[in-house]
Amino acid sequence: MLKKFKQATLQSLKTTGMSSLVAASRWRRQRLLILAYHGIAMTDEHLWNGSQYMPAELFRRRLEQLRRSRSVVLPLDEAIKRLYENDLPDKSVALTFDDGTSDFYQQAFPLLKEFQFPATLYLTTFYSHYNRPIFDLMCAYLLWKGREEPLDLQKIIGCDGRFDLRSAAARDAARVEILAFAEGRNMSAEEKDALLASLAKELRVDYDQLLAQRTLHVLKPDEVRQLATGGIDVQLHSHRHRTPLDRELFLREIEDNRKSVCEMTGRDAAHFCYPSGTHDLRFLPWLDEAGIISATTCDTGFASPASNRLLLPRVIDTSALSAIEFEGWLTGVSAALPRRRRRRQKEKAA
Ligand SMILES: [Zn+2]
Repeated sequence: MLKKFKQATLQSLKTTGMSSLVAASRWRRQRLLILAYHGIAMTDEHLWNGSQYMPAELFRRRLEQLRRSRSVVLPLDEAIKRLYENDLPDKSVALTFDDGTSDFYQQAFPLLKEFQFPATLYLTTFYSHYNRPIFDLMCAYLLWKGREEPLDLQKIIGCDGRFDLRSAAARDAARVEILAFAEGRNMSAEEKDALLASLAKELRVDYDQLLAQRTLHVLKPDEVRQLATGGIDVQLHSHRHRTPLDRELFLREIEDNRKSVCEMTGRDAAHFCYPSGTHDLRFLPWLDEAGIISATTCDTGFASPASNRLLLPRVIDTSALSAIEFEGWLTGVSAALPRRRRRRQKEKAA
């Protein structure tokens, strides 16, 4: 209902010329649209998780829309500087990608190059060094991929539990059990990897093929190096995709992440994105202490000169966003429309 109302409103704002007025307004010029992406599907990932993955054709249409609308896509560092200097061009946009899964190299990078748009990749680094599937994500993906098979957890983790994986609720419940089992045993990355292989076998999913495609793998260091050489700005997303509430552990996450990124790209990194969008006011002095210039959240909205530079909102672009809604964000009119509060993302990459 809300979506239909929004689409109709956006359409009439466009037809009456109101959108163009907003796009050229002083209000919009003082604002930066930071778009956030996760993955561009290599095969069927968008059918599994449409809030994190979009098909490559849709991503191409977004880039075409950016070009057609004459939006100015700026490198993140420049965009943030100009935001606070009140020196942004009309319809300014920055493109950001979270996590750094291998599909970025295979799908997003060639398209970004083709359109010559700058982009920032917030890279989580643990799984870059240990280049196997991201445990939590692969567990969820396997349960979806093998959903036609009944699952008996006794065979996987030795505890009772039968699941009909055709229902999303059952898949979620099975995932929670498996994750709790791994956490309870304090499993090493290798043990978790073996657990995924046995789950795939049980669900008759061709795991070797997923490994060969590098589905839900993080970029390898040499790929990150090539991306950096090719103009991608690689920034911080914590080493293990987490934000501990303990100062020392938090700072270690940033430090390990930064060291890895620097080694791969040969450049320092000082822009941060909160993993899973989890932010807390206690983090702000720690980020300052680490010399972080900006930090982005998953809260929806435009960044303005009044935004805290360590709590910059973004707009998460997903398959669920229609072309008219996307355009509404480029012009600025979408900011004025009501929207549902986003549920916290289920994203976890470590
Ligand atoms: Zn993330």
